[in-house]
Amino acid sequence: MRIDVLTLFPEMFEGVFGASILGKAREKGIVSLNAVNFRDYANNKHNTVDDYPYGGGGGMVLKPEPLFAAVEDLVPEGGAKPRVVLLCPQGEPYTQRKAEELSASEHLVFVCGHYEGYDERIRQHLVTDEISVGDYVLTGGELPAMVVIDSIVRLLPGALGNENSAVTDSFSTGLLEHPHYTRPAVFRGWEVPEVLTSGHHANVETWRRQQSILRTLERRPELLETAELSKKERLWLAERIKERELQAQSASDAEK
Ligand code: SAM
Repeated sequence: MRIDVLTLFPEMFEGVFGASILGKAREKGIVSLNAVNFRDYANNKHNTVDDYPYGGGGGMVLKPEPLFAAVEDLVPEGGAKPRVVLLCPQGEPYTQRKAEELSASEHLVFVCGHYEGYDERIRQHLVTDEISVGDYVLTGGELPAMVVIDSIVRLLPGALGNENSAVTDSFSTGLLEHPHYTRPAVFRGWEVPEVLTSGHHANVETWRRQQSILRTLERRPELLETAELSKKERLWLAERIKERELQAQSASDAEK
C-alpha cells in the first residue's frame, strides 16, 4: 500500500511514521508512507496556499490549485486514481469498518486542512471520502490523519506480530474486547478470574466471549444490535439483561 499525506506540516509525521508498528511496516516494505508539503505546489510567488473567503467573514480558506496540483503530481501517468481522503469535522464519523474498507486500497492520499476551511470545489471535485475523528474541532487535519493511518496500517497483512493480533480487537468482532490479565495471579489481594488459570482452553474461550458481550452491554449497548451473536449467545444475553433489570428493580424498591 502507498499512503501520501498532503500537509503544511510534514515534520509532524516524522516521529509517527518512524516508530512502532508504522515504522516496522514501513521497514518491511508493507507500506510506503510519505508526507508532502502542498505549499510546494503553490502557483504564486509568495507560496500562499490560502486566501480570504468570498463574501467576507473571518478565517482563511485553502485554495484549490495547490491541492489539485499535488494530487495530480502523485498519480503516475495513466495510473489508477487513488482514494483521496479529506480530514474534516463535517465528514463521516470514523469507524473500524471504514478502516477495514480503506485498508483494501492500493493508494490513499490524505488531505490535512488548516485555517477556517477548504474551497468547496476541493470537496466536490477532488476528494472521494471525508472523515471526521469525532465531534470536536482540532487545529489541523494532521492528528486525525495519523489516527486514521495508524488504524489502517495495523490491518495490513504482516504489519502486526502474532502477539498483537487485530482479530479480537474491539469493533473487529462487532463487540468490545474481553478483559485481560497477566501475572501475578494475585496482586494486592485482587485475584485473576479462576477460569484463566485453569488451563481449560474451551472454558477460557467461552468466558472471554461472554465477557466481551457483557462489556459491550455495559459500555456500548447499541453495538449489540448489529453484532454477530449465535442463537445461544442471544438467549444467554437476554437472561443477563433480565437479571440486571430485576437487580435494578429490587435496588429501587429497597430505596423507597
Ligand atoms: N471551520 C471548520 C468547521 O467548522 O468545520 C473547522 C476547521 S479546523 C479549525 C481546521 C482543520 O482541522 C480542518 O480542515 C480539518 O482538516 C481538521 N480537523 C479539525 N477537526 C477535525 C475532526 N474532528 N476530524 C477530522 N479533521 C478535523
